[in-house]
Amino acid sequence: MKSKPHAVVTGGAGFVGSHLVDSLLDDGFQVTSLDNFGSGRPTNLAHIESERFASIEHDVREPFPDLGDVDYVFHFASRASPKDFESHAVEIALTNSEGTHNALRYARDNDARAILASTSEIYGDPEVHPQHEEYNGNVNVRGPRAPYDESKRFSEALAVAFQQQYDVDIRTVRIFNTYGPRMRPDDGRVIPNFLSQALRGEGLTVYGDGTQTRSFCYVSDLIRGIRAFADAPPEVAAGDVINLGSTDEIKIRTLAKTILDVLDADSDIVHQNLPEDDPQVRQPDITRAKQLLGWEPTVSLEAGLERTIPHFADELDTTVDSSQ
Ligand code: NAD
Ligand code: UDP
Repeated sequence: MKSKPHAVVTGGAGFVGSHLVDSLLDDGFQVTSLDNFGSGRPTNLAHIESERFASIEHDVREPFPDLGDVDYVFHFASRASPKDFESHAVEIALTNSEGTHNALRYARDNDARAILASTSEIYGDPEVHPQHEEYNGNVNVRGPRAPYDESKRFSEALAVAFQQQYDVDIRTVRIFNTYGPRMRPDDGRVIPNFLSQALRGEGLTVYGDGTQTRSFCYVSDLIRGIRAFADAPPEVAAGDVINLGSTDEIKIRTLAKTILDVLDADSDIVHQNLPEDDPQVRQPDITRAKQLLGWEPTVSLEAGLERTIPHFADELDTTVDSSQ
């Protein structure tokens, strides 16, 4: 009898990756995380006691170690915060090119199904709104976000190449802004920033006038979508690409006010410069995910923030305690 399905999760110690690891373990998988702990943390996996789990420190820019039979490769390794796009530009560009090459070769050589984490950033500063999967995007190839945006686009192109040349079953998820427990308070993305600032009684740093929009998805909704897509039969999902994200679009200045309301906090709003090439709008068209998987998000922003806040409160207390 075949043993439990084995899933390799790259970036398993990160925010999304660690929730994916939990979900796979809950469903009886054997799971191996490969992570270099660059932006992820061993503590994100410290709660796991299962003998079906292994965490290996490994940089995906290097060829993968032999991990025995593998059924699924979830390729989620990559820094994802715009704060890192310039300071870790080369690392990010190579993780999403050499690293993706290693992940896809590994899936091909093991006859495994691959699930590739792409991003709404491949749409750049979009001129089509909401963004559907056929839209080719508007990325500034010379801009400060290019090392991330263009390398994710290359990841997708490499997936197409592996499908065409080797007939590997690769499914690409374009993830829109997702948040939840286990994001680092110093991650740099907007919800970790606003929650940390509000909990510390500091001003909330709104970049520009805050009229730019995003659509925030709670992590459990995202994971449910990823798992449904990964599990879908090849005749409906092999080689496909889907958007996964919330359609509840909100201005960043409204997000700041919502966070202050949910926390019952009264921090000031502090305006800072809008970063170059910051997309002005973003909202996924999730028609395909609805039709293919019957998937749509269910957790409201307020409910998701309520679930996320205790994590940040704990982390910030820990930080204060350990520095004393
Ligand atoms: P994260 O930074 O929390 O997780 C990324 C993980 O990848 C970390 O554990 C990090 O240590 C690891 N990693 C990075 N480079 C690596 C390398 N070269 N070798 C091995 N491990 C490496 O970020 P996240 O939000 O969890 O993002 C996970 C994936 O989802 C990324 O591919 C990201 O592009 C994608 N994504 C996330 C979002 C979101 O809103 N969270 C949106 C779009 C796409
Ligand atoms: N942003 C902000 N203040 C912050 C961090 C981010 O106003 O402290 C804005 C940022 O300019 C962008 C939006 O919030 O318009 C989302 O930024 P984030 O870094 O979370 O991710 P992005 O969607 O840009 O990849």
